[in-house]
Amino acid sequence: MLALHGKGVSSGIAIGRAYVLKRERVKVPEYVVPTHDIDQEIQRFLAAIEGARKELSEIRDHIPAEAPVEVASFIDTHLLILSDTMVSEAPIRDIREHQWNAEFALKTQSDRLIAVFERMEDTYLRNKKIDVAQVVERVLRNLLNPDEREDDPVPADLLGRIVVANDLAPADTVALKSKGIAAFVTNLGGPISHTAILSRSLGIPAIVAVHGATRYIDNDDQLIVDGKRGILLVGPDAVVVAEYERRAQKIERLQRELETLRTSEAVSRNGVRIQLLANIELPEDLNAVQQVLASGIGLYRTEFLFMNRQGPPDEEEQFEAYAKVVRALPGRPVTIRTLDLGADKRVDIETPVTTINPALGLRAVRLCLQEVGLFKLQLRAIIRASAFGHVRLMIPMLSNVDEIFRVVDLVREIQSQLRKEGIAFDSQMPIGGMIEVPAAAVAADLFAAHLDFLSIGTNDLIQYTLAIDRVDDAVNYLYDPLHPSVLRLIAMTIEAGRKQGIPVAMCGEMAGDARYTRLLLGLGLREFSMHPAAMLEIKKIVRESNVSDLEVRATEIMRSRDSRSLQRLVEAMNGEADSGNGEI
Ligand code: PEP
Ligand code: MG
Repeated sequence: MLALHGKGVSSGIAIGRAYVLKRERVKVPEYVVPTHDIDQEIQRFLAAIEGARKELSEIRDHIPAEAPVEVASFIDTHLLILSDTMVSEAPIRDIREHQWNAEFALKTQSDRLIAVFERMEDTYLRNKKIDVAQVVERVLRNLLNPDEREDDPVPADLLGRIVVANDLAPADTVALKSKGIAAFVTNLGGPISHTAILSRSLGIPAIVAVHGATRYIDNDDQLIVDGKRGILLVGPDAVVVAEYERRAQKIERLQRELETLRTSEAVSRNGVRIQLLANIELPEDLNAVQQVLASGIGLYRTEFLFMNRQGPPDEEEQFEAYAKVVRALPGRPVTIRTLDLGADKRVDIETPVTTINPALGLRAVRLCLQEVGLFKLQLRAIIRASAFGHVRLMIPMLSNVDEIFRVVDLVREIQSQLRKEGIAFDSQMPIGGMIEVPAAAVAADLFAAHLDFLSIGTNDLIQYTLAIDRVDDAVNYLYDPLHPSVLRLIAMTIEAGRKQGIPVAMCGEMAGDARYTRLLLGLGLREFSMHPAAMLEIKKIVRESNVSDLEVRATEIMRSRDSRSLQRLVEAMNGEADSGNGEI
């Protein structure tokens, strides 16, 4: 038996035979096109773009009815990339100017684009390069064999098979799901690539970044995929298979149990009510929020509205997007975070990164206070949306109390303008801030004094506290939510909110990770905002907990003198209480 490791991106266990998707990478020829053939070469390029467009439209038209909404949007992203002039027109210039053949011109342009994406600090945007590469590959295949296009090289029926591939495009993933695959494993990929996101929403166990998987695995090999732990077993013996079958059954049972919690309240055994809120990126995510009956939105990452498009959305478009979410959740809080764009999360990929250290540069509220025109437009849209429900405005990346004053001044100015124009809004709209810079956590009391609520952004708080770039693989091993310094900053922020009498939420990934729920409850956290898929598991823990007991345990944990004993105490706290959910 061979054990391979990768990044588990979608939980669950699958046992089945391998189907190895051997798609060789297309080899790109390079030659000079004679002057008199240039027009013909351009026509050949345009025909390939058209061929790729037809393929994608075909896939889009055959998306299974039960597929989640984001499936169509992933295909749309590829169609958008295909239509972008950077892909569909820039190579024409190179064909004309340098007499390059179409394949080489396209590949060169794609390399330029990918290099720009690679320089981005934001993982989400960096992963966009995968989409560009996949679209370019599709066009290249069309260029190379226009007559014998491999529309569907995969057998129609893959029921129960585990697909092993170099990489999978979202379109491939959807097509494979409809063929009944049980799981997939890829050589490449990251946890927030589209393929990973899709695997979670389609509910297929998946492991990415299993380097060499296609090299070590042959068709029909018996495989076990443990999507939670990122373990792939090749050729397991009967005893191991039986053990995993038992675990798979247990997971299924636990998942059915969790479903029954949809309508149950998030109240602890000793009667403490906990707010379980959802993080969303786009109004389309509402579906998932409704499915788990979240008590509201704790983080609406509005910058995603500004991406994958030519210019920024105008006030009206933003207003519609925000109001749609607010109207869909009557009576429930919708926390709209103002733009968290910056040198890294850029919308204009053509401008090279000039900042030396973008994570410490002009991002989020700093950028907004510099680009006041853009910011005011967003504030107006948010304030107008507040007329339709319970909007909470949230400021990201606060590092200075003065930033609060400047935002509040702008809000008041816009509110008085709207009043004059006779446009409705909620004059009581709470204004809160994210605590994600250590300076803000250390002085959380000073920030709390001027805000209506706080929300701890652990993703950035951990990055800045431990001085580890959140997207740098080389230092990822140091990423540790249980680092005593991180825990102290979290505890200080919760305490500052308590003293000031304002709510404190957490909306970083830590809030949706079941390993930390009990400790956070013990530290006094009462609002957790997370990806909707994590919510039922967290609700189960809340319902099984006695918060007073956890508070005692947390005090003990915070007294530990070193990381290792702290870790052991947290594990013990979870172990004693765990009713078996750890499997999921
Ligand atoms: C965070 O930093 O924890 C957070 C929630 O914001 P983002 O992940 O969008 O930076
Ligand atoms: Mg952040």
